[in-house]
Amino acid sequence: MSDNLYDTIIIGSGPAGYTAAVYAGRANLKTLVLEGIERGGQLMITSEVENYPGFPQGVQGPELMEHFRAQAERFGATLKSVLADKVELKQGAPFKVTAEGVTYTARTMIVATGATARFLGIESELAYKGKGVSACATCDGFFFRGKEVAVVGGGDSAFEEANFLTKFASKVTLLHRRDTFRASKIMVDRAKANPKIAIKPFVEVAEVYGENQTGTVTGVKLKNTETGAIEDFPVQGLFIAIGHVPNTELFKGQLDMDETGYLVTKPGRTATNIAGVFAAGDVQDHYYRQAITAAGSGCQAAIEAERYLENL
Ligand code: NAP
Repeated sequence: MSDNLYDTIIIGSGPAGYTAAVYAGRANLKTLVLEGIERGGQLMITSEVENYPGFPQGVQGPELMEHFRAQAERFGATLKSVLADKVELKQGAPFKVTAEGVTYTARTMIVATGATARFLGIESELAYKGKGVSACATCDGFFFRGKEVAVVGGGDSAFEEANFLTKFASKVTLLHRRDTFRASKIMVDRAKANPKIAIKPFVEVAEVYGENQTGTVTGVKLKNTETGAIEDFPVQGLFIAIGHVPNTELFKGQLDMDETGYLVTKPGRTATNIAGVFAAGDVQDHYYRQAITAAGSGCQAAIEAERYLENL
């Protein structure tokens, strides 16, 4: 086998990718993980993970991912912190993936590229990104010590971000376009019980504005989703927590996707439309989107890859 030919190449380094690597490694498959530049996936920008089994006191997201990575390495996976920029899958095995000018080939491939935070898509939001607009409270919350901030969204992420931001901000307002929430009841109750959190329903952010001189956010214009009325709402930070988009650009025209870009796998399986190519984690799951379910599907993908190779 040539140096660059692997039994399986895993693209992605979140819970799905590393778990696939642990299982593939233990099955004695020659395994390469292309981790991307910012390895570790979404848990790297999460604070405490309270619901990953095995950690009764909770664990910090980055620490958990270091455990995942170390375990993948222990079972012999080769890990490379490079970004895959081209894949050739349609012609069948050996599948090819190019990263930073080097082409790697494999008899099977596991796609575990995850999903990325979504933004509102308004022009002024873009102008203030990194200057008061953020999609990551864990990364940027620290800069808002003693300030008033708002979080957009009504899902678990929005409530988690709001709760985390109360460590720094003097006040956190959760802005949501409805008055019912996708977030779990425990998260909503926790926010309601937190004196630093206010919930403002029936609003969407129409514009972000700030000081021209310093370029930092001073407020947002809110549009009432029932009446259409516009109001000024002064805040110094705006955190967007409105869901994610799957990282599937690389696979367009090769792997089947649904209308929102998530990879389609066979029901209850990780097999894609191309034999020998499997997909695991958030890249193919817009429903559960948990570290534990991502890890579970990474395990499934590695087992499927191993059985596929055995059957050849
Ligand atoms: P989500 O559940 O899809 O919620 C997205 C929220 O953003 C919804 O409230 C949605 O409003 C709102 N939204 C979407 N587009 C919008 C727009 N353009 N303008 C304004 N609001 C917009 O996403 P998520 O909160 O990121 O959670 C994703 C998954 O991860 C869920 O399964 C969640 O349970 C899980 N999660 C779990 C935890 C935890 O257990 N600790 C933490 C974080 C996430 P509508 O409701 O009106 O559509």
